[in-house]
Amino acid sequence: MQQIHTISKSMYFMDLEDKYGAHNYHPLPVVLERGEGVFLYDVNGKSYYDFLSAYSAVNQGHCHPRIISTLVTQSQKLTLTSRAFYNDQLGEYEKFITNLFGYDKVLPMNTGAEGVETAIKLCRKWAYTCKGIPENEAKIIVFEGNFHGRTMTAVSASNDPSSYSGFGPFLPGLIKIPYNNISALESVISDPHIAGILIEPIQGEAGVIVPSDDYLREAFALCKKNKVLFIADEVQTGLARTGKWLACDYIEIKPDILILGKALSGGVLPVSAVMASDEIMLCIHPGEHGSTFGGNPLASAVAITALKVIQEELLFDNAFQQGLLLRKRLHEIQSRKGIIKQIRGKGLLNAIEIDSSENSSLAWNICMRMADNGLLAKPTHGNIIRFAPPLAITEEQIEECAFLIEKSL
Ligand code: PMP
Repeated sequence: MQQIHTISKSMYFMDLEDKYGAHNYHPLPVVLERGEGVFLYDVNGKSYYDFLSAYSAVNQGHCHPRIISTLVTQSQKLTLTSRAFYNDQLGEYEKFITNLFGYDKVLPMNTGAEGVETAIKLCRKWAYTCKGIPENEAKIIVFEGNFHGRTMTAVSASNDPSSYSGFGPFLPGLIKIPYNNISALESVISDPHIAGILIEPIQGEAGVIVPSDDYLREAFALCKKNKVLFIADEVQTGLARTGKWLACDYIEIKPDILILGKALSGGVLPVSAVMASDEIMLCIHPGEHGSTFGGNPLASAVAITALKVIQEELLFDNAFQQGLLLRKRLHEIQSRKGIIKQIRGKGLLNAIEIDSSENSSLAWNICMRMADNGLLAKPTHGNIIRFAPPLAITEEQIEECAFLIEKSL
């Protein structure tokens, strides 16, 4: 009787989404109603370790008390003014984030995809204003396997048919080349019409593809040599996820344009940011770009606290340490269970590739089993499962999760 009630409660909410919502996602059949730290709770009170962290948007953990406190306090005072006027939060936030990452200026937006759009517009404007590329001739290099969001620009950059099929015509001026292949970049970058490269330092959605450090370093050097902007999309890899503030910090490079999003609000509202030098940022003048919600006082206040939480709780250090432990345990599991083909990752952005040669729904079935056992993760590209818990996860919790993963496999 109790079980029927439990199933029917979940079914009720799943049916609502199915009937009234667009079918643009294929969720795992779990209905969540509460989150705290590394845990999520479903409508029946069952608890789960969150190993997705809303695609790395809740690095600080669910409903972090300090972030929620800022959200509540600021939302009772002032939430939105538009940029038609000044507000008393935006400037403080702009100062804080630019000092933290060492940039002259920030352009505030909301979603990650808007951050990418903004970076591309900035890069093109810089190309015409500063590099001397003839109007409408600028090209930007993108990389096979990329994921930059769901806008027309982002799907134009994609080489994944499920992202772009049926949505043409596409944005011109994007050159697609293989990732982690320096000679492919070398062969196109000297074209004088190349304005920038748009790159993820680790390709998250592609299944946590980690390129060699040398590749990123050499790509950066090639950009410098050819007066091409290095645009880092750190929407997923940034903000301590990979064990440092930025994945680019591993090779000590400073992107010309840096895009952040997701965890910039700790997952409580959409906040993204694009940072650059004065030379680049001042190419855009009043009226040439913007967003009603971008830079709103609520987002600005929340973003400062979200960044302070990462800084003061040293979440990068914990992500680095726990990432080492998680991959160690995963390698041990791999030696006992043949179905793990590969383990990849940095910090707490990790993935396992499942040998699904005999059963194409194996990764999905494993995720279902893990959910039963109290751990939520989601397959990407069929046979890859990403493991990306909130960054405050403890050693004991990683040990328990490793046990749950092995049990499910
Ligand atoms: N860039 C990267 C690297 C991402 O991983 C994502 C989202 N997964 C985006 C951009 C898009 O962000 P949003 O969904 O907030 O638009």
